[in-house]
Amino acid sequence: MVPARQDGRVTTADDHPAGPAATTPATAPPELAERAAGLEAADPLGDLRERFDLPDDGSVYLVGNSLGALPRAVAPAVADAVQRQWGRARVGGWNTEGWWGAPQRVGDRIGALVGAAPGQVVVGDCTSVQLHKVHLAAAAEAKRHDDRRRVVVADPGSFPTDLFVLASDARLAGLEVVLAAPPDVPSVLAARGDEVALLALSQVDYRTGELWDLPGLTRAAHDAGALALWDLCHSAGVVPADLDANDVDYAVGCSYKFLNGGPGAPAWVYVPHRLQAGFANPVPGWNSAAQPFAMTREYTPAPDIAVARTGTPQMISLLALEAALTAYDDVDVDAVRARSVSLTGFALEALDALVPEVEVVTPRDADRRGSALALRHPQAWGLSRALHARGVEGDFRAPDVVRWGVAPLYLSHADVMAAVVALRAVLDAGEHEAAEHAERPTVT
Ligand SMILES: *Cc1c(COP(=O)(O)O)cnc(C)c1O
Repeated sequence: MVPARQDGRVTTADDHPAGPAATTPATAPPELAERAAGLEAADPLGDLRERFDLPDDGSVYLVGNSLGALPRAVAPAVADAVQRQWGRARVGGWNTEGWWGAPQRVGDRIGALVGAAPGQVVVGDCTSVQLHKVHLAAAAEAKRHDDRRRVVVADPGSFPTDLFVLASDARLAGLEVVLAAPPDVPSVLAARGDEVALLALSQVDYRTGELWDLPGLTRAAHDAGALALWDLCHSAGVVPADLDANDVDYAVGCSYKFLNGGPGAPAWVYVPHRLQAGFANPVPGWNSAAQPFAMTREYTPAPDIAVARTGTPQMISLLALEAALTAYDDVDVDAVRARSVSLTGFALEALDALVPEVEVVTPRDADRRGSALALRHPQAWGLSRALHARGVEGDFRAPDVVRWGVAPLYLSHADVMAAVVALRAVLDAGEHEAAEHAERPTVT
């Protein structure tokens, strides 16, 4: 996320003074470099960096969980979408270029990455809007079965938009929101289970990178008679979700993080076949109707996943996303997950060895970490600026966290090591002390 300054102007990394010149040479200890090379050689997936358009300047991009890097396939696809498809096919493109079906077509491609069989994922809108649709559809679904179920259990540590939209939906639908961190969910379900309509959680915590137990918590919700909604913004493409196998009821996600769809790429929603017939879409635009072109005054919902559509899809962004997803061609998400675990595990080793004074907030247990690491330091802002000056791009999260997203498709063990080595060098030279005084964002 780009920090906005108090004057409303968006800051970019380049707006900030870089701090002192990077003087301390950053060289990795030989045994660490050897370990990085060994792990890289042992990884069956390998480095797919060639599929991406990344600069060859030694910089390390650790913000792929905020905006994924640019896949090489995107630029030609967008040029084709604009020049040939829009320019020549014009309105006919809705049929001849397959635009009309693109939300479902691209949805199926994402579905393959999150364990959903075809026909259950559709792309469109942004995550916030998809959450709105699902909250209200789930409330209606629960109410149909049992009118007393009016409670939604959600994590107080959720990404803010999830809680903002939920609070508004709760007002609209007369729901009660009960906040409980995932470890406390079972006891809340034990106490109030027969009132719970929906459990709404994120698979990976956006700040700490902690991975929650999607299968176990989904089962717990079902055992209490409730539905389960998962936000996969920080996990789709890097952590398997196995939505069908885990009997998940609803899922949403954005596509500009680890799916690399580009800034503002459309989001997606998963509604399994068994819940599509009753899906009460609260924004039932014409694209969600059974016969959109019949132009009837009466609304009949589409009998399939199109029921979760709303209006005209953002076609250029959607086609950019479709091209971006080719970076996942012939790639198995389990292999991506294995590489991610290897990369973050190696980063932890390197951090322990080189910068033991920096606290890692992310759980050390591989089963409990997603594809990001959160480092806590009292001068986290200065650290992130000084690292940036050394070509290591991470996120600052107020008040004291540097967040490193680890995108397994285009980062190597050597990249991760370079980031940790740069961190050591910054601390040794005190570069973060000077950078600490650079203008600090008020919103992050
Ligand atoms: C990134 C993110 C979003 C983004 O929401 P948009 O409406 O697509 O901007 C929502 N929820 C979570 C958990 C996220 O990480």
